Amino acid sequence: MAGRPHVGILALQGDVREHARALSGLGAEVEFVRRPIELAAVDGLVIPGGESSVIDKLARSFGMQEPVRAAIAAGMPVYGTCAGLILLADRITDGIDGQETFGGLDVTVRRNAFGSQVDSFETDLAVPALGEPPVHAVFIRAPLVESVGAGVETLAALGDGRVVAVQQGALLGTSFHPEVTGELRFHERFLDIVRAA
Ligand code: GLN
Repeated sequence: MAGRPHVGILALQGDVREHARALSGLGAEVEFVRRPIELAAVDGLVIPGGESSVIDKLARSFGMQEPVRAAIAAGMPVYGTCAGLILLADRITDGIDGQETFGGLDVTVRRNAFGSQVDSFETDLAVPALGEPPVHAVFIRAPLVESVGAGVETLAALGDGRVVAVQQGALLGTSFHPEVTGELRFHERFLDIVRAA
């Protein structure tokens, strides 16, 4: 693909602006996506952090669930952070009653996996696929990837082995929020996937 990658951010709820800043800083042309016609115009989509049950409900009431599912099935690159990772998971545990996801990532994700006592923390994470230095990762009421299917690559895990970053083809998901710390390597990786798609 020649020129700047043209990517959307699902802008129903969550930390949309932080992703927009990261992606524009990397030279992408960024759109806020709320309607099917806006989704159809982009070559990749970011699903931000926020509250997955709210994004799910809004996506259904804006008629976005089926179009996002179809785009994922057609191979559109998608990067989800935190709530966005939950929305990409084929299976979730501890969702609210009736909570649905777009799916696509063959993983089981537990919502709010760190409980209320340690609901937010920061740590340095080794991410071999990104090289040095380690990623300074911020977790905010974060989910954990509890199990991964055969086609899913684990990109990062906590010291005790619990998985917090995964990739499956053109789908990328992190439990944490690179967009709030100025860490740009996951967004760069996402834009590389978009350019290659
Ligand atoms: N706990 C939130 C949820 O269930 C995710 C938190 C976040 O995105 N920082 O969607």
